[in-house]
Amino acid sequence: MVITLLGTGTSSGVPLIGCLCDVCRSVDFRDKRLRTSAHISVDGRSFVIDTGPDFRQQVLRLNLLQLDAVLFTHEHKDHTAGLDEVRAYNFRSGQDMPIYGRPTVLAQLQREFAYIFAEHKYPGTPHVVLNELRNEPFEVCGIPITPIEVMHHKLPVFGYRIGDFTYLTDLNYISDEELEKVKGTKVLVVDALQRQAHISHFTLDQAVALAQRVNADRTYFVHISHKLGLHNDVEKELPATIRLGYDGLQIQL
Ligand SMILES: [Zn+2]
Ligand SMILES: [Zn+2]
Ligand SMILES: [Zn+2]
Repeated sequence: MVITLLGTGTSSGVPLIGCLCDVCRSVDFRDKRLRTSAHISVDGRSFVIDTGPDFRQQVLRLNLLQLDAVLFTHEHKDHTAGLDEVRAYNFRSGQDMPIYGRPTVLAQLQREFAYIFAEHKYPGTPHVVLNELRNEPFEVCGIPITPIEVMHHKLPVFGYRIGDFTYLTDLNYISDEELEKVKGTKVLVVDALQRQAHISHFTLDQAVALAQRVNADRTYFVHISHKLGLHNDVEKELPATIRLGYDGLQIQL
């Protein structure tokens, strides 16, 4: 399995438009963060988790020629806004794009992208097939996947475990029961927004505490705000097995 972090930034991305802070003006490529999303290549299959506003740029950067399915974590715009771009894969493969998500996420996609689901579609619009997920294991193209339900303030969000890889974004709470599903994972990707308390995201300290409970071989933080600090400075404070993610980082598993 190869995991690529397509984006590691919070909803506004880094740099934040108009911000002149040290992080937003940094010349370190690791401080340039598109919206959080990941690509997973496993047994010849190719999936993305979320299609945020930077989806097109992210898949072009990866030169991603094949995409077999999209898994959505939740319905926030920084995770869904790029859905229109899947039509490029419709053109390439001649197939409809399978999409997986909670029923509430699929309902919101149908509202926000009504033209995709219209009875008489304009030519060239995306073709998708919706697949509703419950909080129980499922398969995509023969690959077993386990959803992990976490809380993002009051909004339930799905993280996903694929083999020994677990991806948890946009959360500030995980129950002990759901955490059991994460145990034994070798690579963990988890939300770490900033140092200051936040209503719907883990802080750096909370993310470190979760990483230490899971005790994966490697943990990478994502959904990072410009307020967290410079990539190079923050990493120096972290235990060796915990790193900040950066856009384009590839993890072999
Ligand atoms: Zn988000
Ligand atoms: Zn800034
Ligand atoms: Zn969110």
